[in-house]
Amino acid sequence: MNPTPALDATRRVKDFADQVKRLGDADVRTCYQCKKCSAGCPVAFAMDYMPHQVIRMVQMGYRDQAVRCSTIWVCASCETCTTRCPNEVDIARVMDVLRQMALEEQVPEAEREIHVFHNEFLRSIRSHGRVFELGLIGLFKLRTGRFFDDILMGWKMFRKGKLSLLPHRVRDRDRIGKIFDRAKKGAL
Ligand code: SF4
Ligand code: SF4
Repeated sequence: MNPTPALDATRRVKDFADQVKRLGDADVRTCYQCKKCSAGCPVAFAMDYMPHQVIRMVQMGYRDQAVRCSTIWVCASCETCTTRCPNEVDIARVMDVLRQMALEEQVPEAEREIHVFHNEFLRSIRSHGRVFELGLIGLFKLRTGRFFDDILMGWKMFRKGKLSLLPHRVRDRDRIGKIFDRAKKGAL
């Protein structure tokens, strides 16, 4: 016999919340929607859904909405929300898990440029052991086509010596590579 729609919905809710808990050790079930997380989020103004709404989506099993929203990419992982939550819901970790799911399921990113920035930032760290700002900006602009955005600010920074032409590399870059390899294998 087929399960009733009500049973199906209950299972969907439980499965999604369980999966988020398993992947991120973050339990959303204790959230009672007080909105303290959203009230303290420094980038909430740029989100399509507030952090407490994303937590609600996970509670309700709205998987598609959760992995497709721009909030998970706008989130800066500052953990203010996690610190403020009276129920110890690790909201920042939930955002991480949802980003991970979106990437694994190849959901088109709601904020592609943020993802490009993350990738180029990590690539720069991996190559030099620290960020090479000018290289990062160049590659970001190449990949997004935003060649003339912030050009005046960039010029001012360059004139003040804030952007160097060549990367400053750390001495032991092999160790940085090993950290990346371990992170990829999930060993960190
Ligand atoms: S602060 Fe915690 S309990 Fe309050 S809405 Fe956010 S996640 Fe839920
Ligand atoms: S971790 Fe993300 S959602 Fe939480 S307060 Fe910081 S930016 Fe906002």
